[in-house]
Amino acid sequence: MKYECPCGYVYDPAQGDPDNGVAPGTAFEDLPDSWECPVCGADKSVFEKV
Ligand SMILES: [Zn+2]
Repeated sequence: MKYECPCGYVYDPAQGDPDNGVAPGTAFEDLPDSWECPVCGADKSVFEKV
């Protein structure tokens, strides 16, 4: 399941977010609450399912 930030960034669990310590294969639900959009810094809560 992919999630999109209002800024247009899409979190793809297959890719993770290696630049921020999130390994590929990490589901959005399993991201730490401290994780934020790597593009605009938005909170997890603003992301919506794609
Ligand atoms: Zn964003």
